[in-house]
Amino acid sequence: MDGLNVSQVRPEKQFSAPPLHTRPPACFNHTMDAFIYQANPTRVVFGCGALAQVGAEVEQLGAQRALVLSTPEQIDSARRVAGLLGPRAAGIFAEATMHVPVETAREARRVARELGADCAVAIGGGSTTGLGKAIALESALPIVAIPTTYAGSEMTPIYGITEGGVKKTGRDARVLPRTVIYDPELTLTLPFALTVTSALNAIAHAAEGLYAHDGNPVIALMAEEGIRASAAALAPLAADPRDLAARSDALYGAWLCGSVLGSVAMGLHHKLCHTLGGSFDLPHAPTHTVVLPHALAYNAPAAAQALARIARALHAADPALAADDPAAALQALAARHGAPVSLKALGMPPDGLDRAADLAVQTPYPNPRPLDRAALRALLQRAYDGAKPSP
Ligand code: NAD
Repeated sequence: MDGLNVSQVRPEKQFSAPPLHTRPPACFNHTMDAFIYQANPTRVVFGCGALAQVGAEVEQLGAQRALVLSTPEQIDSARRVAGLLGPRAAGIFAEATMHVPVETAREARRVARELGADCAVAIGGGSTTGLGKAIALESALPIVAIPTTYAGSEMTPIYGITEGGVKKTGRDARVLPRTVIYDPELTLTLPFALTVTSALNAIAHAAEGLYAHDGNPVIALMAEEGIRASAAALAPLAADPRDLAARSDALYGAWLCGSVLGSVAMGLHHKLCHTLGGSFDLPHAPTHTVVLPHALAYNAPAAAQALARIARALHAADPALAADDPAAALQALAARHGAPVSLKALGMPPDGLDRAADLAVQTPYPNPRPLDRAALRALLQRAYDGAKPSP
């Protein structure tokens, strides 16, 4: 990012097109690289009070018997949903937990079968949406997701199930929620600490989407706006976590960032977080928060335009965020709001860093900068120490 002035940032090279008046006829337009854009067919209902529409949305799917899912902590929200559904509620399964253990998934599928459920309504964060996906994977039951964090799982066809301590993930169109109800009022209770790390989790999807090998101009627009909206929400929420306008911004940002995650391939950052979460049981959103600045700094030399767009989005969200170094700006944003900035603070064992570096290079995946074990080991050390991000 050296010497890059954000006010002069141009779109990614492959997306540049000449001004309309100089554009040749479309068939002679050789200036824009080819891309594929595949829309994910989720219906999105957004707005304060939108939860009240859950009955109509279940009806719209043609479903009669909805199984409501939540974590044990959010069972009151599940009961509220069941109340709104009235006779269309088949029952509540409030056993969702982090990383979707296969035993919980099996139990949820059994309950769904026994109750004759023809739809699942998942109210909660990524763990609850993930449980809905685990049910849908085998039964093709349609899911209505009602997210209450910013994790973004509701907009993706990605599922994860943990068996014998190993989390397997995959993509399957059957697990993509058919309908998503975003109601910012439901996020008013999200503790501020989780608000910050969850918003940074969302930003991570969009940031990696900007350098995805299979990116496209529509997703890039969503990514930049998603980063801006998510980052802009944090200062007002620090002042008042019940600021509904800021909660709306954060949830709008989460929708955009989740859409990016669901559409294009993620790189080094998501790979590292998956490894750290799965192998060392580190908490999901805080791990994203700590690692993101370091992963972006690693990729910066090979993804200048993407980093410039991240910088532009952060600067638009808050002019105080350093425009010339988005990796440092994200670390500063986390620190300013009391979020963890070191893996050490998350309980990472120091002797696990070598194994994490080995795992990060074990299976190759697309990433703008080639994966170099020594450089990744150094990255992990900086993340462990909470040091300044650097390439
Ligand atoms: P989470 O769903 O585990 O929720 C964390 C805790 O916060 C839970 O106890 C939950 O009940 C509580 N909570 C949620 N919303 C609340 C609210 N509004 N008020 C009060 N408490 C609330 O956390 P998460 O970060 O949303 O999700 C993490 C999980 O999601 C991980 O397992 C991750 O792998 C997965 N995930 C999957 C995808 C995907 O596309 N498949 C995307 C992102 C995350």
